[in-house]
Amino acid sequence: MRQITLRFLGTGTSQGIPVLGSDHPVCMSLDPRDKRQRTSALIRWDDCAVGIDCGPDFRNQMLAAGQKKLDALLFTHEHADHTAGLDDIRPYYFQKGYFPIYAATRVIDSLKERFAYILQEENKYPGAPSVQINEIEASSFDLFGLAVTPLNAPHGPIEVTGFRVGGLAYFTDVKSMPEQHLDQLKGLDILVINALRHEPHHAHLSLSEAVALAQEIGAKKTYFTHISHHLGFHEAVQKTLPAGIFLAYDGLEVEATLPI
Ligand SMILES: [Zn+2]
Repeated sequence: MRQITLRFLGTGTSQGIPVLGSDHPVCMSLDPRDKRQRTSALIRWDDCAVGIDCGPDFRNQMLAAGQKKLDALLFTHEHADHTAGLDDIRPYYFQKGYFPIYAATRVIDSLKERFAYILQEENKYPGAPSVQINEIEASSFDLFGLAVTPLNAPHGPIEVTGFRVGGLAYFTDVKSMPEQHLDQLKGLDILVINALRHEPHHAHLSLSEAVALAQEIGAKKTYFTHISHHLGFHEAVQKTLPAGIFLAYDGLEVEATLPI
């Protein structure tokens, strides 16, 4: 059976855990699962490795993963906690002399503004990385032989892109799941979705909302990511979750099947 592995590089919300300057008990926890870098992931299959988002902790996450090469990056959306590490693709860019990124048009436009020195084609500073831009549209696209289905979902006033590949679906920063995607989320081995905290939030699923959505989608296993310290201690919260639903933690790796 062909497999895809997803490594949770980071599972924290935008400030990470511990939050700078905070003496909240979860920020002081000695449990390594309560230390959460900004949310991103790495998918590996055959001899390919692709990142999903590259936040401000990207370099440390790649070091922790022992990641010697990276073939491309997919972006879910443009917020800083998902893009601020873009400069740190430089070693991977130097290896190949090019580096593909995949993102929705709005996200590409935002990256062009904020990382003009990377995305511009002329007057480049020697040593600045370049990216090969692939705009994600509504339909499935080919990623080194893998069919990737983009699925957009609301995140406050903007939309984020989720991805389905084989038996794996990955979403972060969503507030809800559009009804029309539910058919495309049947038969999942692994669903990754965000669960911020207990209290409602205008742009993120709360824990109870995430549990309800996970149960509606019905993947064999669901993992929650993009977690705030306000959610509580990993160990205590995990005990409250229904069977088959888990809090992810940084460095966790899970596997799903791919079509032959
Ligand atoms: Zn975020």
